Amino acid sequence: MSQITRRDLIKIFGASAVATSGLLGASKEAYAKSSAHIVIVGGGIGGASFAKYMRLANADVKITMIEPHPQYTFCPGSNEILSGHETLENLTVNYNTLKSRFNVDVIQDVATEINYEGHQVNTLHNGKISYDKLVVSPGPDFDFHFVDGYSAELAEGDFPHAWKAGPQTAKLKQQIDSMPQGGVLLISSPRMPYRCPPAPYERASFVANMLKETNPTAKILILDSKDNYVFQNHFEHYWKQNHQFGQEGSRIEWIPAKKGGVVTKLDATNKIVTTTSGEQIKADVINIIPEEKAGRFAIENGLALGSNWVPYEPKTFASKVHPDVYVIGDMVDAPMPKTGYVASNQAKVVAAAINDLLAGREPGTPFITNNCVAMAAEDYGMTITATFRYTGGIKDKGFSTQVRTSAITDNPYTNRIRAEVAKNWQRTFRKDMFS
Ligand SMILES: Cc1cc2nc3c(=O)[nH]c(=O)nc-3n(C[C@H](O)[C@H](O)[C@H](O)COP(=O)(O)OP(=O)(O)OC[C@H]3O[C@@H](n4cnc5c(N)ncnc54)[C@H](O)[C@@H]3O)c2cc1C
Repeated sequence: MSQITRRDLIKIFGASAVATSGLLGASKEAYAKSSAHIVIVGGGIGGASFAKYMRLANADVKITMIEPHPQYTFCPGSNEILSGHETLENLTVNYNTLKSRFNVDVIQDVATEINYEGHQVNTLHNGKISYDKLVVSPGPDFDFHFVDGYSAELAEGDFPHAWKAGPQTAKLKQQIDSMPQGGVLLISSPRMPYRCPPAPYERASFVANMLKETNPTAKILILDSKDNYVFQNHFEHYWKQNHQFGQEGSRIEWIPAKKGGVVTKLDATNKIVTTTSGEQIKADVINIIPEEKAGRFAIENGLALGSNWVPYEPKTFASKVHPDVYVIGDMVDAPMPKTGYVASNQAKVVAAAINDLLAGREPGTPFITNNCVAMAAEDYGMTITATFRYTGGIKDKGFSTQVRTSAITDNPYTNRIRAEVAKNWQRTFRKDMFS
């Protein structure tokens, strides 16, 4: 496939749009900076969205992405792998289109260190790479120390968290499929903030629907480190109708933090967890979703300013302290949920801001949305629309928020349509940045 050129942009958007406007603009001053080199750390949802939209905004800059893996597997949709409705292969994409069509130089490597004064990023194998603008989106890292006895090694072995889609997802599926009849799957759901707040409950729901057919006496025990969660009324409504939730013999049991739901210890040898109430619970499959913090690259390079999450300038998502460095995705300390939808929208804000700055223009004001779609089943969806409007103030980290959640209904057509919207969103979202 051929690469996008300035002429292509004019064909697609029209000469006046390309010459004058924000995201699509590139004024005369831009050509003074046409050699600007923009380097991206991380080729996940944030990094890949940025790469594509930066190219659409500006055909002339040089864009380099540093990403250790040759492929990326999407987390959205990965819970459905556990119930057999989705496959890892279908969720896995490569960087060919970003390279060939959007002229992004993808370097398969690990970024290690930022030399802020020298405007350089160091890598494990490719030495130092100079940048004019650096966009950092390494996602989160998992923090295992909240559960005594749990570790990254155990997660790679017999206790997969599967909170990053890949081999752990396949392993968890295999464990659930091999549970004895009447077995117990224990899911420990973390405190906020973590990526995709409804996903632990979506996971429980999809697995329960499958077990209803394959292992009808099996149970799912959700031990929660919170007292409530997003879409709780939707999930409970669905579980009451399909899994006798809240009654004797329910397939799903949910224990909130205030009733001792917080897991504090894992005895891996005997497959037993201990909770804050001192109770010891044995299970056949233990799925502890760890707490999270900003990715190691961000923390070690001081972007989190000593905390667990990365602060930012709300107008442009620039680092609070390092000029020419921009921070997006799950690792930022924004009043927004940690979702791919948000990461992708933040990426577009940064692409527009960098393009404006290179052209000598004042960046516009951001307006970010999160149209989150979740499912309790293939035919039961739910939606939440949140808007984050830039205020310029320091209150609420620079954004005012409005949220609207879909109402519960027993109309099966409405519930199915919402689920179809969720599935279509997953498909088009993957295509948006990778094809
Ligand atoms: C089960 C599950 C379901 C989900 N469902 C949804 C959903 O339905 N909708 C939704 O919007 N979101 C969903 N999410 C959340 C979504 O996956 C994340 O919010 C999104 O991936 C965040 O994007 P990111 O760019 O910050 O991080 P990531 O997508 O994780 O990308 C980070 C990238 O950085 C790379 N990297 C890390 N360190 C370095 C380094 N030092 N050098 C170079 N590269 C590095 C990594 O290899 C990775 O490719 C879900 C998440 C989970 C776990």
